[in-house]
Amino acid sequence: MKSPSYFLYARKSTDDEERQLLSIPAQIDELRTFAQKEGLNIADIFIESKTAKVPGRDIFNQMMGKVEKGEAQGILAWHPDRLARNAVDAGRIVYLLDRNILVDLKFPTFWFENTPQGLFMLSIAFGQSKYYVDSLSENTKRGLRQKVRKGECPGQAPLGYVNDRLNKKILLDPKVAPIVKELFETYAKGNSTFESLSNMLKSKGIVSRGGKYIHNSRVTFILSNPFYFGYFRFNKEIYQGIHEPLITKKLYDEVQAVIKRRTHVFPLKSLDFPFTGLLRCGECGMMITAEHHFRRYETVGHSQDFIYYRCTKKRRFASCSQPFIRQEILTAQLNHHIQKVSLSASDHEWLIKRMAKDEHIQRSDTGEHVQGFKVDLLNRKDKLNNLLDSYLDNVVSREDYLTKKNQLMGQKKTIEEKISTLERVPNKWLEPMREFFDTALTADKIAGDNENLIEKKEFLRKTGSNLTLKNRIVDCDLPEQWAALRAAPTTRNREARAGIGPAQ
Ligand SMILES: [Zn+2]
Repeated sequence: MKSPSYFLYARKSTDDEERQLLSIPAQIDELRTFAQKEGLNIADIFIESKTAKVPGRDIFNQMMGKVEKGEAQGILAWHPDRLARNAVDAGRIVYLLDRNILVDLKFPTFWFENTPQGLFMLSIAFGQSKYYVDSLSENTKRGLRQKVRKGECPGQAPLGYVNDRLNKKILLDPKVAPIVKELFETYAKGNSTFESLSNMLKSKGIVSRGGKYIHNSRVTFILSNPFYFGYFRFNKEIYQGIHEPLITKKLYDEVQAVIKRRTHVFPLKSLDFPFTGLLRCGECGMMITAEHHFRRYETVGHSQDFIYYRCTKKRRFASCSQPFIRQEILTAQLNHHIQKVSLSASDHEWLIKRMAKDEHIQRSDTGEHVQGFKVDLLNRKDKLNNLLDSYLDNVVSREDYLTKKNQLMGQKKTIEEKISTLERVPNKWLEPMREFFDTALTADKIAGDNENLIEKKEFLRKTGSNLTLKNRIVDCDLPEQWAALRAAPTTRNREARAGIGPAQ
């Protein structure tokens, strides 16, 4: 038997509620791809611009006439609702199917089978308004998805960008963009509040599209918008944009870390309490907070102010038995941990020299690393494709798909940045490394200076240590490179190690 040929039918009505549906070129685009994948033979293409709510569409009638004459045996459309949304047209299609004049219907969005059950489902798709409403919202998303797939972020440009309506592009706003960038850079340093940033924008005369000053909550929103590093969020998914990024993903990640740390932890009064937000409770995992305790000494005739740290005990359904600890006692313990990673001047010198040597060797290896990352990148792209297939085949749930996808997109971007960093500055890791050794060189001084407690906190933060407090004892879990520093007490021990570059 000769395989059936198909008519491709695309419709975009002028109905108000349908305005955002997939455009005709987008429908044809999708349908052609679908036909190719399914191996369908397309005999002709019909394009309608009238609504399917009422019978009497010229192109539709013309096509059905040709079907009745046997010029094609199947119809390919985006969804049954493209073909018919009124009983007359729906009946006509079902009647032709019944008589085997029409043998098949194909839709990328709807599975149709020419069986009694399939016909039943089809009539539901044609006729039921509920179904239509549901699919409308799905189709609206699909229409936007076409745009989104091309990397065009739908909607208004965020602060620092402008919509170029003529070319349908989003461009950097030369006046505002540098200020938004500054906003990220400032916040990444970890010592400003959303309020101070809001005031900074106000002082520079930056207002929203509506002419209002940017409120604190809006600042949070800006700082968490992936748009600024070249991606954008749409329908809870992350897409790669075609717009020019304002900041790097690295800076964005740094800002997210600060937001995470500060929004839950940092009460505004914390300036009084240098170590709040630094430690977690070793018993229940909640943050350690602080408070003033005033003690009155009747005999001396004055009162003294003590600062105590304690678990916030905010965990629900679990009690925490941890006691208070005085700031002085806590400080002494923190000093001890800071000292553990100090570096002597002679060791520091040795390491800097050793780095210069490694820098030389590393330069020749860079090409190889770039190659490796490029293979990595291809892997991620494959995984994304496979993931999409699994999702479309209903193998994974939408939720799992989105989680995994966002994860992969993030990894992809990180690898891309690694490649461009390596290609631009082959030994980029050396700078942070140097900074790391320089920091370690200052440890002794910081531990010894009990006037500047904030500096101690900043130092411990810089090391990325995971600090917990249990039974008035501070436990310090050091990240790898700092732990290595501590484990290598003499220069000779370090000499034995192969190299000091980062693990690749
Ligand atoms: Zn606790």
